[in-house]
Amino acid sequence: MTALNLTSAAAKRGAGALERVISRVRERTVGQKSTLAIFDLDGTLFDNRTRTIFILREISEKFDSKAPQLAAAFENFRNLSIVDYSLDVTLRQLGVSRPAEIALIKQEWAKRFFSDNYQKYDMPIPGAKAYVERVHKAGATVIYLTGRDVGRMLVGTTEVLRLYGFPVGVEGTMTIVKKEAEQDDELFKREVSAYIDRLGEVVAIFENEPANSNILRARFPGASSFFVLTQHKPGAPALDPGIHRIKNFRAAERPRAV
Ligand SMILES: [Mg+2]
Repeated sequence: MTALNLTSAAAKRGAGALERVISRVRERTVGQKSTLAIFDLDGTLFDNRTRTIFILREISEKFDSKAPQLAAAFENFRNLSIVDYSLDVTLRQLGVSRPAEIALIKQEWAKRFFSDNYQKYDMPIPGAKAYVERVHKAGATVIYLTGRDVGRMLVGTTEVLRLYGFPVGVEGTMTIVKKEAEQDDELFKREVSAYIDRLGEVVAIFENEPANSNILRARFPGASSFFVLTQHKPGAPALDPGIHRIKNFRAAERPRAV
């Protein structure tokens, strides 16, 4: 995933902040007040590397004679960390260099990656399901805010959330995806945040893209903001101050008795 590592002090601060979100939601729920928690999906609640590696493996089998370098790479495949944010980098690291093979793989990968059928190959980030469930049970409305699009990916998104036991489709949940696949991610999140602002009090934001994290932090300065250290777009801006960095959601898995 990322070379970034957290100091133990930063990890403790992140874990404490995760717990405080639950307490704040509970307090407001008891007081009959709304709370909203925004969770991005790709790279925040889910690790997409398994989706990519599954798809590449499928392509290597289906098009074996047209993708011999990819097929050869799987003879020695050992480690998921070879999967980069960029498919070009991943293929280079797998030893695929023939332009015709790269073009075929990219085309076949995109057809599958951005489709309902392959999202079930994502793996939840450790502790994510348990944490989202706690936020939901405490009384917050969980908003899945994702750059996936309605035409190609809404059904698969719902399916994988249900598959892993995340609250979805029930009271206290909302899934917001893009209407158009071509829409710019940052613009989409900026526009939707204006709508969310009218719905109630945002108490927590979870993102893995620094640009989105900064946009949402600026829009909801009273919310606790968390940045999940997975993968993100190259050339991203620096993360604004006051945003907690977390590696996963495990720190918040075993709460002390209340
Ligand atoms: Mg993301």
